[in-house]
Amino acid sequence: MVGEVVEVRELGKTGLRVSSVGFGASPLGNVFGHITHDEALSSVRRALQLGINLFDTSPYYGGTLSESVLGRCLEASGFPRDSYIVSTKCGRYVEGFDFSADRVTRSIDESLQRLRLDYVDILNCHDIEFAPSLDQIITETIPALQKIKESGKARFIGITGLPLEIFTYVLDRVPPGSVDVILSYCHYGINDTTLQDLIPYLQNKGVGIISASPLSMGLLTETGPPDWHPASAELKSACRAAAVHCKEKGKNISKLSLQYSLATKEISSVLVGMNSLQQVEENVAAAVELANHGVDSELLFEVEAILEPVKNQTWPSGIQS
Ligand code: NAD
Repeated sequence: MVGEVVEVRELGKTGLRVSSVGFGASPLGNVFGHITHDEALSSVRRALQLGINLFDTSPYYGGTLSESVLGRCLEASGFPRDSYIVSTKCGRYVEGFDFSADRVTRSIDESLQRLRLDYVDILNCHDIEFAPSLDQIITETIPALQKIKESGKARFIGITGLPLEIFTYVLDRVPPGSVDVILSYCHYGINDTTLQDLIPYLQNKGVGIISASPLSMGLLTETGPPDWHPASAELKSACRAAAVHCKEKGKNISKLSLQYSLATKEISSVLVGMNSLQQVEENVAAAVELANHGVDSELLFEVEAILEPVKNQTWPSGIQS
């Protein structure tokens, strides 16, 4: 049934029912510019009111600030703990990467303290392409996370990163059921759809799919990406041209991009970084409009044509040899 709040979808075999629009909390760590506590609280509270129930953070975002701010906001929202799903990460910190069993075991306790929670719903190994070897993730990190799961501090385990081949490498080598979720980013939006090819494999493995950064970390917005964005000048310029094209037609590139990502139902949740009440309301409205009327196919066709020369262009991530 089509409603005024975002729809929920099953997340793999976890039994979790996550909102199709997820709240990416990296902006709460000032990653996309400064955000006040009042703005953060009003964004989180409004998100909950509009049916967004998945909140994703990491100790890395803003050097632990995102976790602390999210924890304060969720507590102050007054919503009961079982009405929202919290995903955090381990292994990536502002000080660097450390996927050792010892570090990730301490990490969850630190995260729980900052988040003011007894447990998180999903604990992800954060950007595993930066591990000295993916075999460390398989033989050391994931077994440590299993113990954390058994202790009740995390309900489910995930892995995240940019290159898609990391997911098959790990999932082909761990015991079935030991990874519940993957979190991919910047690979399912108008400019890059490469995650699509992996969907049947992931479904076959029974792994839940979360896709982050439908706006390609700011590339597909009117204001453009932050200075640290790793895309090539060519990709940035094509995305800028697409944003200008939409604006000239009185349309918004962010709305179109989010709707594009949301239309694929095999992706359980699309995480968007949101740093204002207005963005929360716009993104929920985009999801509701998609459910009621579908995507603006004429505009999509035009934007796809502008982005065609840079289609599926990505950037390096991980330890370069
Ligand atoms: P994104 O593509 O969601 O873009 C975020 C940017 O878009 C921010 O500047 C935000 O202010 C802006 N924005 C959001 N809604 C808008 C709207 N309606 N109009 C105009 N601008 C709008 O990129 P992201 O924040 O990097 O990704 C989303 C979340 O996914 C992150 O917060 C994080 O939780 C998660 N993520 C995880 C990983 C990982 O695990 N390796 C990587 C990337 C993202």
